[in-house]
Amino acid sequence: MSTIQPSSRSDRQLDRQRMLHVGAPNVGDRKRFNQLVDEIFERRWFTNNGCVVQELESQLKDYLGVKHCIAVCNATVGLQLACHALDLSGQVIVPSFTFAATPHAAQWEGLTPIFADIDPKTHSISPESISEKITAETSAIMGVHVWGIPCDTEAIAQIASDHKLAVIYDAAHAFGSCHQGKMIGNFGNCEVFSFHATKFFNTFEGGAIATNDDELAERLQLMRNFGFAGMDEVIHLGTNAKMPEICAAMGLSLLPMLDEIQSANRYKHSLYQAHLETVDGIRFLTYDHVEKTNWQYVVIEIDAQRRGETRDQVMQRLHENNVRARRYFFPGCHRMEPYRSQPFNQDLVLPHTETACQQVICLPTGSDIDEQDIERVCNIIRQY
Ligand SMILES: *Cc1c(COP(=O)(O)O)cnc(C)c1O
Repeated sequence: MSTIQPSSRSDRQLDRQRMLHVGAPNVGDRKRFNQLVDEIFERRWFTNNGCVVQELESQLKDYLGVKHCIAVCNATVGLQLACHALDLSGQVIVPSFTFAATPHAAQWEGLTPIFADIDPKTHSISPESISEKITAETSAIMGVHVWGIPCDTEAIAQIASDHKLAVIYDAAHAFGSCHQGKMIGNFGNCEVFSFHATKFFNTFEGGAIATNDDELAERLQLMRNFGFAGMDEVIHLGTNAKMPEICAAMGLSLLPMLDEIQSANRYKHSLYQAHLETVDGIRFLTYDHVEKTNWQYVVIEIDAQRRGETRDQVMQRLHENNVRARRYFFPGCHRMEPYRSQPFNQDLVLPHTETACQQVICLPTGSDIDEQDIERVCNIIRQY
């Protein structure tokens, strides 16, 4: 039995108007999960670097081909730890076209997020825009591999080395993606994954920091657990960023199925593309240059002028037909609090970010969506 197939296919065929969502969780081998949970209860070891977390970290290291992988409670706290462990100060350059957690993590650490624009072809931070934003106060660049499409890591590495800046990647979307023959996880000083329920690889809630830097890894390990080096020995400022055993069990039961889920996602993406590619005013992102991605997101952009209908009008028709498609990163982080009210952001114009915020729709995909669902969604979009 393939667990990525919907469980109650016959019921669903009767119910072609059922609600379709973006971000339905990927589910792993439930037998294996239950077995691991039984073992956790028998051991009475629920958290604090238990053997399930250790096993997950070890498997993640192999999967990513990275020296260190530190499991954490979620990506937002993971990004905060990374900022802290790299001893950043002043300004950090981030894209505005991202989830609020990216700038929030920096702001929470007392840093000032400075928003850069994106490359309209990939939706990831634009190296040219980064260069324009560098000041004497800049200490780091925080790139985001939006939709699992890798940033221009070479250009970013060059800028960082020219200006002696740290590089953190928010890799929340990019678990399983590959770039220049290496898995995402190997770029910058460190990369932070989210294992939130909606992400490609999930542990209910969770995340991990991947790095090839031994010293950084050691600091992150201390900081994740209150700075404890031994039983009574606190040698560093720390917080509680630990992943519980039960979350790691979810990860271990899902990890072996990722290739299968990736292929299914890719197939669904190709179906959407076949249905919609030739429709006037609808654009898909190009993946020609991408070596491997998780295909967790189906993203289209609506060109209102060519389409004769705005993105929000398309969204409204989808919602009226029980398709919960979503705008993404609207209205852009620089238009959200607390950033919007900061004086230096009042007149900030990021043309490509603003266009993406006006045009993007994410369509439902994943284990819960089948061929007929996709046809239904595409028919609604085409109907206009
Ligand atoms: C989901 C997400 C996060 C936050 O991840 P959590 O694990 O929920 O804290 C951060 N950045 C991006 C781009 C995300 O999509």
